[in-house]
Amino acid sequence: MTAERRNGGTAEGSARDSGRWLSKGPSAVPPFRRSATLVIQTAFLGDVVLTTPLLSALAELDGPVDVVVTPAAAPLLEGHPAVREVIRYDKKGRDAGLAGLWRMGAALRARRYARAYLPHRSWRSAALALLARVPDRAGFADSPAAITYTTRVTRAPTGHEVERLLTLAGRRTRATPPVSLALTAEDETTADRWLAERGIPPGFTAIAPGSIWGTKRWPYYPALAAALEGPVVVVGGSDDAALADEVVAAAPGRAWSGAGVLSLRASAALIKRARVLVTNDSAPLHLATAVGTPLVAIFGPTVPEQGFGPRGSRSLALGHAGLACRPCSTHGPKVCPLGHHRCMRELPVETVAEATVMVAGAEERRAIRPRH
Ligand code: SF4
Repeated sequence: MTAERRNGGTAEGSARDSGRWLSKGPSAVPPFRRSATLVIQTAFLGDVVLTTPLLSALAELDGPVDVVVTPAAAPLLEGHPAVREVIRYDKKGRDAGLAGLWRMGAALRARRYARAYLPHRSWRSAALALLARVPDRAGFADSPAAITYTTRVTRAPTGHEVERLLTLAGRRTRATPPVSLALTAEDETTADRWLAERGIPPGFTAIAPGSIWGTKRWPYYPALAAALEGPVVVVGGSDDAALADEVVAAAPGRAWSGAGVLSLRASAALIKRARVLVTNDSAPLHLATAVGTPLVAIFGPTVPEQGFGPRGSRSLALGHAGLACRPCSTHGPKVCPLGHHRCMRELPVETVAEATVMVAGAEERRAIRPRH
């Protein structure tokens, strides 16, 4: 088989992936405060990270915004300069069902928002904006709930999701703000301490083997860890812990797992300290983008052209170039509809290892290049 490779640039896959990362905090809405702009983005972690340029653009126009997100995604936006308040909506937990929707809608209504942006194209998000009685509601024209919006924006069929989301802000925005996280000194210290306690030197390879979509998991991460030289650190949520243990076992004495141990933000700080991250088409891909770490992204049932690929020229996207069935889904199905899962099984360890060494080597050369 042959493997396709692309520089990051404009691309996609499916950021819609969360996993279970450690998080804290309640889903209750604080008491009334007047605000101008509301963004409702209750999609997966990666989608929330990719929404940060839109948040920055909106904040530049009308001041910091309030954002409704799931409790899992809330830590991604806490402390972000474009965000005034993060509102947790536990749509699958304590706020589930019509009663929870009604409760959240009423709480938002009390805040009397002037405008709402709906990057997540769900009926539930649209219903929240309606229940909140926000007079201006902007969303994508191809959304099932588009009829409820007062402004319908055509969603570009190509291009990166970041630029597509930015079109919701209209033509008033300037250059594309970066994908970003506001890591705190505590997040950075936690990552530093975790590395120091294990004696892990700088320049390690980070690996994120998980994905909530089964077909998006490349099956050879343990073999990759064994093939690579130098220290390896596995990142992920608690759902990824068993997989992470397999990777660690394959490289005894030079691999460690932070999966399910470190918070989402501390994991992002850990990725920031890696020379390169190897990941599936899942949330860590976008965390790496936000913290500026180059990556090797492995695409199976999805392709970067769907809009969720790595950005910039320092990263590589890998995928099986010779399969007519790719892409078979925007998310990545739970199981291969054809039963063979060739898109991932036929992407060899050697190809991924070679790409990892290439990206890491380029970073090393960049780091030692003399500055004039
Ligand atoms: S149908 Fe093709 S692209 Fe989809 S999971 Fe199966 S092998 Fe992969």
